[in-house]
Amino acid sequence: MGQFPITRTTSPAQKPADDTLAFGKVLTDHMFLMNYEEGKGWFDPRIVPYGPLSLDPATSVLHYGQAIFDGLKAFRGDDGQIRLFRPDRHAQRFDRSARLMSMPALPVDIIRASFDALVGVDADWVPHKAGTSLYLRPTIIATDVMLGVHPSHSYLYFLILSPVGGYYKEGVKPVRILASDAHVRAVKGGTGEAKTAANYAQSLAGQQDAAAQGYTQVLYLDGVHRKYLDEVGTMNIMVRIGDEVITPPLAGTILDGVTRASVIQLLQDWGLKVSERQISIDEVMAAGRDGTLKEMWGTGTAAVVSPVGTLGYKGEDVLINKGETGELTQRLYDAIVGIHYGRTNDAHGWTSVVKVPAIA
Ligand SMILES: *Cc1c(COP(=O)(O)O)cnc(C)c1O
Repeated sequence: MGQFPITRTTSPAQKPADDTLAFGKVLTDHMFLMNYEEGKGWFDPRIVPYGPLSLDPATSVLHYGQAIFDGLKAFRGDDGQIRLFRPDRHAQRFDRSARLMSMPALPVDIIRASFDALVGVDADWVPHKAGTSLYLRPTIIATDVMLGVHPSHSYLYFLILSPVGGYYKEGVKPVRILASDAHVRAVKGGTGEAKTAANYAQSLAGQQDAAAQGYTQVLYLDGVHRKYLDEVGTMNIMVRIGDEVITPPLAGTILDGVTRASVIQLLQDWGLKVSERQISIDEVMAAGRDGTLKEMWGTGTAAVVSPVGTLGYKGEDVLINKGETGELTQRLYDAIVGIHYGRTNDAHGWTSVVKVPAIA
């Protein structure tokens, strides 16, 4: 803090009541910006009033989608302190996404410091109600004004903040997901391990198909064999068969989820068996039929863990744990949420307290 110039808004917005918060609809009073130009590097980090960006219609990101983002949260703890969850890991992943999308390397320490600085300035926007949080959305877009297809020579980094409601209004609730044999998300050598805009644009059709068939989300299978589990559109996937938790390996097609890594660590801490390996949809469906599929859940910043109550594939549905939240799923959720709000011991140092500047 103090290291970035701040221009404060002269017209602060009215903050919504905590119980009206949804996801990403309300933005805070300020944003963080920084520019890049080839030959000059990243320059001019600054905090300014939140507002529209002005872009030439020929700006390359609008045509070819050279854009990356990340998503993390700040929580107001029971002790009143504001904590970021694993901000270093998010900043590093953001850098990885940048490289995968042919963007220049990021000054990871400045990105990391931008989280603290902006949350500090807009600290009053971190909601108080249980389950709520402040979502941070760091983004980089290609800003060359040109219609040729090549990596941009200039970029804009922006960080915006949104107070968000609890993902679960009435306790953790299982979802219905559809393993798709019609849509694929990524193949090796593609963009699957980057958090890049294009991955989400191309996921919308599958999402609509799943919704039309009565499911909440798509479970993607690998793009080559259409056989092995990859991940859900915005979550990594885990299954518990007997006493083994299995999750697809980081092999170039799925995102290296921060929640995924945290869950794997907790399972190891608890002495449980967790395997990062390929698992086929046929194996999961068979386990669903014979009752050895005990639990299945997605992991991601938005929901933490999201239990799967029903898994559909090729016209067949299997009900998991009678459609209820499993015991391990709930334990993982409670453990991570406890760390978010500073209720339980943060043994791995995952949270980082934000220093709120005293301002007049
Ligand atoms: C963001 C995201 C996840 C979850 O990652 P977290 O770091 O746990 O939030 C998983 N899969 C995809 C495709 C994502 O975009």
